[in-house]
Amino acid sequence: RNFKRQTECRIDISRLNAPFLSIYDSLIPPEEEKGKQKQLLTLLEKLVSKEWPEARLFLYGSCANSFGVSKSDIDVCLATEDPDVNKSDVLLKLADILQSDNLQNVQALTRARVPIVKLMDPVTGISCDICINNVLAVVNTRLLRDYANIDVRLRQLAFIVKHWAKSRGVNETYQGTLSSYAYVLMCIHFLQQRKPAILPCLQGMERTYVVKVDNIECAYFDQVEKLSGFGSRNRESIAQLVWAFFNYWAYCHDYTNDVISVRTGSILSKRVKDWTRRIGNDRHLICIEDPFETSHDLGRVVDKYSIKVLREEFERAAEIMQHDPNPCVKLFEPY
Ligand code: ATP
Ligand code: MG
Repeated sequence: RNFKRQTECRIDISRLNAPFLSIYDSLIPPEEEKGKQKQLLTLLEKLVSKEWPEARLFLYGSCANSFGVSKSDIDVCLATEDPDVNKSDVLLKLADILQSDNLQNVQALTRARVPIVKLMDPVTGISCDICINNVLAVVNTRLLRDYANIDVRLRQLAFIVKHWAKSRGVNETYQGTLSSYAYVLMCIHFLQQRKPAILPCLQGMERTYVVKVDNIECAYFDQVEKLSGFGSRNRESIAQLVWAFFNYWAYCHDYTNDVISVRTGSILSKRVKDWTRRIGNDRHLICIEDPFETSHDLGRVVDKYSIKVLREEFERAAEIMQHDPNPCVKLFEPY
């Protein structure tokens, strides 16, 4: 594969900045969507507090990590007073309550890896997933949001990568491709690795935010307003970064040996993590370490078929960026 390896971008990439930025702008959710989300959350809080007065609701996922595009579903976590409640019982009870309040398409998925209740609110038109006590997701949402506030190029790159992944059908964990969360971590890691770096490694700095969740200590530097000029020594534009991102995953990443790690701001070896062989369904064909749950490989959903699909898509994207006269159309063509 290395014969195709491009280490520098020999084309005039700057002409692509304006089109990429306009795609980015078109994906940003309008202000009124935030208002509707708040409205739905307030309704849910009211319904939940009748049954569980001590429970709290948290937004997480893309509606709270600033990587949400327009018209995304919202993710809500119900944190109960007793962390060891039976999730299925709570979900079924919750589904009953929601149904009686005329919320639509209410469905309790109690056997999913992350059990949830799904619903659609006919008033705001917003769909929503509610999970129980998934506090780690609330904390990793916060970490992603804090990274986004350091340099705007992260949000731009992640929007474009997510848009590409959705258009090309490689954002489907149930089909063995990657979650949005995994793609955002790939973007953060990539920007930590640029020279000069565009993002710092927040978990390697002074610990100004510390919580313990499910016995995992989550700690990082969260005073990101102090880091606002961090990436300014690096002048790379969004078009250069999109080019380099796809080039990295197409031709430069060592899929046999490497694990990308936002936690350490570096590449780790599969050997050190003992991720060299298949255990159960975890194959570790592309390795993305979760920043807090470090035994968790976000690439574990990828199997021997979908790794091929993914790598071919990275190569396709890299080729288009390099050779196509109009990459902004071809890149996002439906598969
Ligand atoms: P989208 O806009 O596609 O909905 P999203 O950021 O909401 O993007 P999801 O894949 O829906 O991404 O995940 C929602 C949240 O759940 C993530 O932001 C993350 O906090 C958490 N999450 C998702 N998948 C995992 C995972 N495999 N391990 C840990 N946390 C995860
Ligand atoms: Mg989501």
